[in-house]
Amino acid sequence: MATLEINDLHARVAEEDGERILRGVDLTVESGDIHALMGPNGSGKSTLAKVIAGHPAYEVTGGEILLHLDEEDVADIDAELDDEDYHWKLLELEPNERAALGIFLGFQYPAEIEGVTMTNFLRQALNAKADEREELFEDEEAEADADEDDEGYDTSPMEGPADDGEIGVAEFQQILSEKMELLDMDEKFMQRYLNAGFSGGEKKQNEVLQAAMLEPAVAVLDEIDSGLDIDRLQDVSKGINALRDEQGTGVLQITHYQRILDYVEPDHVHVMLDGEVVKSGGAELAEKLEDKGYDWVREDAFEAA
Ligand code: ADP
Ligand code: MG
Ligand code: MG
Repeated sequence: MATLEINDLHARVAEEDGERILRGVDLTVESGDIHALMGPNGSGKSTLAKVIAGHPAYEVTGGEILLHLDEEDVADIDAELDDEDYHWKLLELEPNERAALGIFLGFQYPAEIEGVTMTNFLRQALNAKADEREELFEDEEAEADADEDDEGYDTSPMEGPADDGEIGVAEFQQILSEKMELLDMDEKFMQRYLNAGFSGGEKKQNEVLQAAMLEPAVAVLDEIDSGLDIDRLQDVSKGINALRDEQGTGVLQITHYQRILDYVEPDHVHVMLDGEVVKSGGAELAEKLEDKGYDWVREDAFEAA
């Protein structure tokens, strides 16, 4: 089981006198749970998502983001691991390294790339993740070896051509078919070119499929419900439930509206106001928000302060 732990996170827009947006966010998401993060427009939800992923538009000015892994999460790694391989400080890592460790942030609108099918795109994403993982967990070892070497230079053997566990076409097709079945998706979808002519709803479904393929520890889904008609909302919701139930993914489901929570039953609900998580509860909190809006949360938070 993996745990994403955010402690007292502060962030601002990465420019001189950039606006302070996150003001001490505390939030913990464990794999296998769905957390709904709600809040009015402008409260900092999307910024939190992007800071978790390592978006360069934001500068972190305080706090930490930790990812704790267990044996299960590193079962694919063929190297001797030490304690550090189970506890990562994400703020010290590049976006692609965070992704390789199991953080998924929907590539919300990957560009249309001429001549690249969905299939090729996903296969490439999967291979890139596998390569990066190998490097991350082996780098650690190489560094440790270098430290032990009292001559002060790295005597580890030169890297040969990556003995990459490239996923073959047949194996990939097999995984893809399984995931598409899990999500109830039409195989024809995959032959289409990346995002060319995809409807808004299809793009959202793609995002869930990407998350299913990459099997992240924690998937951050930002407003995946926006602009969906009811049928597509149900499809997407079914997919999100499957991420949790069938592959134990933790989901941080960012949403402005309660509507999707009729189909995706959250294990935890959090409210963000002015760059802080000011209230947490169970599914009943989302219902209360639907009935009463956010004003009472603001009053409660104000009284507590
Ligand atoms: P939410 O997703 O909850 O609607 P955001 O995280 O998108 O909120 O934005 C929070 C606040 O930060 C808003 O006032 C927004 O205008 C501001 N903001 C976010 N990103 C930037 C940016 N890159 N440059 C300037 N202001 C930004
Ligand atoms: Mg705080
Ligand atoms: Mg937003």
